[in-house]
Amino acid sequence: MQKRLFALFFSLLLILNPAALLAQGGLDPELLAKIRKEANENSQIMKTLHVLTDIYGPRLTGSPSLKAAGEWAAKQMTSWGLANAHLEPWDFGHPGWANERLTAHLVSPVREPLVAEVLAWTPGTTGVVKSTVYQMVPPANPTEEELVKFFAAEKSKVAGKIVMVGRQTIIPVNFNPAPKRLDDAQAKARFSGAGPAGPPAMMNRPQPPAPQPGEPRKLNPREVAERIDAFLVENRAALRVNDAAMEQRRIRAFNNRTFDPAKAVPTVIISNEDYGRISRILADGTPVELEFEIVNRNYPEGRTAYNVIAEIPGSDLKDEVIMLGGHLDSWHAATGATDNAIGCATMMEAARIINALGLKPRRTIRVALWSGEEQGLLGSLAYVRDHFGSFESPKPEYSKFGGYFNIDMGTGKARGMSLFGPAEGADVLRTALEPFADYGFVGVGATRSRGLGGSDHTSFNQAGLPGISVGQDPIEYTTVTWHTNLDTYERIIEDDTRKSAAIIAAAVYLLASRDAQLPRFAAEAMPALPPARP
Ligand SMILES: [Zn+2]
Repeated sequence: MQKRLFALFFSLLLILNPAALLAQGGLDPELLAKIRKEANENSQIMKTLHVLTDIYGPRLTGSPSLKAAGEWAAKQMTSWGLANAHLEPWDFGHPGWANERLTAHLVSPVREPLVAEVLAWTPGTTGVVKSTVYQMVPPANPTEEELVKFFAAEKSKVAGKIVMVGRQTIIPVNFNPAPKRLDDAQAKARFSGAGPAGPPAMMNRPQPPAPQPGEPRKLNPREVAERIDAFLVENRAALRVNDAAMEQRRIRAFNNRTFDPAKAVPTVIISNEDYGRISRILADGTPVELEFEIVNRNYPEGRTAYNVIAEIPGSDLKDEVIMLGGHLDSWHAATGATDNAIGCATMMEAARIINALGLKPRRTIRVALWSGEEQGLLGSLAYVRDHFGSFESPKPEYSKFGGYFNIDMGTGKARGMSLFGPAEGADVLRTALEPFADYGFVGVGATRSRGLGGSDHTSFNQAGLPGISVGQDPIEYTTVTWHTNLDTYERIIEDDTRKSAAIIAAAVYLLASRDAQLPRFAAEAMPALPPARP
C-alpha cells in the first residue's frame, strides 16, 4: 500500500514536473511538441544549405571557400544566440587546391563537349591543350617488375599525348535499383541490439589479391596509380584522362593521393559514356583529338585547416560537454549538398532549436563542423586528440565528455542511432526517443567497434568516447550523390531534414540535461583498439 501510494504520488510528480521526468530519463511531451513546432515552422535548414552549397561550394579541405563557409557558419550561429563561435586551427600539412576553370571537348573526328571533372591536387594546363589520344592499358594487379617492363615498352608513345589510362569499364543496366527508404523491419534490425560493425561497404577500399606463396608481391592500387603518374610526368604526357566508370554521366572525383601537383600531369575524369565512345573510335583505327583547358590554384595557407565550434553554455554541469556535428568539407565535383552541407545545416538547426526555445541545458552543448573528413577524418581526429585524449591516454576533459552525435549519410531522415558504449547507454536514448516513432525513428543500437572509418563519430569511438552515429534513409546517397558531380541542393528532401533536426535536438537536450552521463564501458570492459590500417 505504502509503496503503491508512493508510486502514484511519484507519477503525479512527473506529470506536473518536466524536470523530474527528464531526470528520470524521459522527455516531457510538451517539450517534444515545442521542438517539433520550432523545427517545422521556423526551419533555417534550407537557408543554411543554400549558403553552404550555392555560395561556398565546393568546400575542399584547405581551400579558401571552405574557410569562408566556416566563417559564415560561425557568424550565423552567433546571430542565433550561440556563444564562443570560432574557427579552431589544425595542421592539414598540404596546400589548399581549387579548380576554377575546365573546358573539355572532343574535336576530331567529331566535335562535341565532354562531361568531365578535374582530379584534385593535380596541375592545370598551360593554356589550351589540344592533342591526339593514346589509350594506355596497364596490366591488372601488376608486380613491380611487370609494371617496369610495361613502362619500358610504352615510353616512346606518351610524349605530348593525351593519355587515356585503362580500358573502359562496362557498366551494365541496373535492373535492381536500391530502395530509397529502409523498410521498418530493416531499420529495426539495424538500430536495435548491436550496431553496424564497421563502415559501409562502399567505403571499403579495394584490396589486391593476396600473393601465392613464392610469388612476388603485387602492387596495391595506390602504388600502381603513383607509378603511372610518375611515368607520365617523366615522359611528358600532355594530360591524363580517367574513366568515371559510373552510369548516366556521373563522375566521382577524388584526388592525386600525394597532394603534390608536381607529381602528376593535368588529370581529368570523363564520363563513362564519353570514355567508351572515344575507346570505340580508337579501336576502329581512327585517330581521336581532344582539347582541354584547366585552371587550378594552389593555396599554401591551406596547410592550416579549421574546425568550426560554437556552444550553448551549460548551467550547473557546464564543465561537461555534449557535442553534435558533421563535416563541412566536401569533394569538388559538385557543391557537396548531401555530403555533407546538409549534415552541418541539420546539426546547426538542432542547436538553434534548443536555443530558440530558451531551454537551459545543464551541460554545455557544443556544435562542431569538421574539415579534413574526406582525407581521413583528420579534423575530428585532431580535435579529439587535443581536447580529450583517449582511453589509453586521457586528458582532464575525457571524463567530462558525455557524447557526440554525428550525421553524414545524405538527406534521408534519421531512422535510428548507433552508440559506442554498453547496451544500457543505447537503452536510455532508445526509450527517450520512442515518441518519434511517427517520424519513422525505430531505435538506438550499441556498438563496441573502435575501428576508424565511415565518418567523424569514429574518431570519438576510437578514443573510447561515446560517438553516436545517426542512421538515415539511404535515398540516393550511395547510388547517386556520394562524392559525385550530382551532389547539389536539388537532391535535398526538406521534410526529412526537419524531422532529423527535431529528433537530434531532443536527443542532445536529453543528454545535456539528465542527472547522469550515459553509462560508459567500465575500464576492464573497454574494447581493445583494432590494429592500425596500412
Ligand atoms: Zn561525408
